Amino acid sequence: MSTQNTLHGNQPELTVVLFRDDLRVADNPALSAAVEHGAPVVALYVLDEVSPGIRPLGGASKWWLHESLSALASALTELGIPLVLRVGPAQQIIAEVVAESGATRVLWNRRYGAGEMAVDSLCKDQLRAQGIAVTSFHATVLFEPWTVQTGAGKPYSVFTPFWRACRNGAEPRLPLPAPGPAVSGQTPTLATDTLEQWNLQPSRPNWAQGLRDTWAPGEARAWERLQDFLHNDLAGYAAGRDFPGEQVTSRLSPHLRWGEVSAHQIWHEVSAVRPHLSPAALEGATKFLTELGWREFSWHVLFHSPNLASTNWRSDFDSFMWPELDRDALAAWCRGRTGVPLVDAGMRELLKHGTMHNRVRMVVASFLTKNLLIDWREGERWFWDTLVDADPAANPFNWQWVAGSGADAAPYFRVFNPELQAKKFDPQNAYIRRHLPEWGTPDYPDPIVDLADSRRGALAAYQDFKERRSEQDLR
Ligand code: FAD
Repeated sequence: MSTQNTLHGNQPELTVVLFRDDLRVADNPALSAAVEHGAPVVALYVLDEVSPGIRPLGGASKWWLHESLSALASALTELGIPLVLRVGPAQQIIAEVVAESGATRVLWNRRYGAGEMAVDSLCKDQLRAQGIAVTSFHATVLFEPWTVQTGAGKPYSVFTPFWRACRNGAEPRLPLPAPGPAVSGQTPTLATDTLEQWNLQPSRPNWAQGLRDTWAPGEARAWERLQDFLHNDLAGYAAGRDFPGEQVTSRLSPHLRWGEVSAHQIWHEVSAVRPHLSPAALEGATKFLTELGWREFSWHVLFHSPNLASTNWRSDFDSFMWPELDRDALAAWCRGRTGVPLVDAGMRELLKHGTMHNRVRMVVASFLTKNLLIDWREGERWFWDTLVDADPAANPFNWQWVAGSGADAAPYFRVFNPELQAKKFDPQNAYIRRHLPEWGTPDYPDPIVDLADSRRGALAAYQDFKERRSEQDLR
């Protein structure tokens, strides 16, 4: 260890603040605390895809990350804070940056995935052993997962009582304003990668044009999106949110995923507009906060079941017999070539725009796991790669919810009928036409499965599972 790493009486202080899923300067408790300490601040983002338990990002997420880090770097420059970019195992990289900079303090906002918490815990121990002050903060969720418990002191497994307990607890703290500039001082010049070096954005082929046309990553745009939604769409939200042809939902999910806007900011902005709302908009506001509640619940469930992306939350579901994987059917689903219009429209929206309307996500997930009898993990992986809001908690949580293996899940025998769903929620076919221009032309394929037959097949597989489960119970 170099002597620079240890705290000496006359060593100038320097704070390193880590950025991870919190790519914003406002309502960023770690950043605000760093600036308040009154020492120069260096910001560090480590692209860590190698530490044990860390899931490498999908392609669409990488595209977003590039754009968002670029916006963050500009915002930090205005505060006099350089953003250092490094790639590798976080624990090692943070130690290196601390040694190179002579930092005396490291701050970060807490994470709740098991792999991420393990990395952070090792970092904390290592830095503290070197005399570096380390503090972590609550920032990413409204309610930290271990603070919400049933009367028996257990985690919640059902959403409604979970959300009631959250709402009956203490009001989430007020969001913090963006800090003023950090003090200038002798900030060492540290080596940094460039975003271009990381190759986060595709070039050959450049499939990201649809993402670029659809999304504007970064904190400033997230804030605009939130204000636009609260002022223009709340009144239509409760009634319109299930209709994929209407764009009345907030479209904040990728901004929330990357922490360009915080749940605390959203919560309090909703409170601020509440007194001025019409009854319909009030209903929309309550429904919208409930959706935010599902985000909280999925983090609660992930914290208590860390292997949510790979393991059935309901362990009895392990005896469900998925047939041998039909790779052609999976490929047709991924590419939006199943011949089932609402499913294909959704999968095309995903491929081109990196998102999919929530109702259609449920329909395509049901189609994959039930009509095609393909394991939910295959679908979860595809979404992880293609969604700009691919979220370590919400994605596996919702896949398991649809498949029937998850917490508070829809029962497996609830098979969405994509034709009836289209009739009900896309009655003018506005969504299907928007995303599936060849629908109704000779280029459009016939269905790869018969909906009624495959539904019966799914129910038979479920019946078989139930029988095997009761046999096991009897043993
Ligand atoms: P709004 O209706 O405006 O909702 C506001 C916010 O609440 C969203 O931005 C999101 O942060 C949160 N939210 C809404 N619904 C849910 C939900 N069911 N679970 C958790 N949070 C929710 N959402 C993700 O953010 N990332 C994912 O990887 C993801 N994967 C999904 C996979 C499947 C199979 C399904 C059925 C749903 C998935 N969702 C995921 C949830 C939901 O579809 C999206 O959050 C929503 O479509 C985003 O659009 P919006 O921001 O306009 O939502």
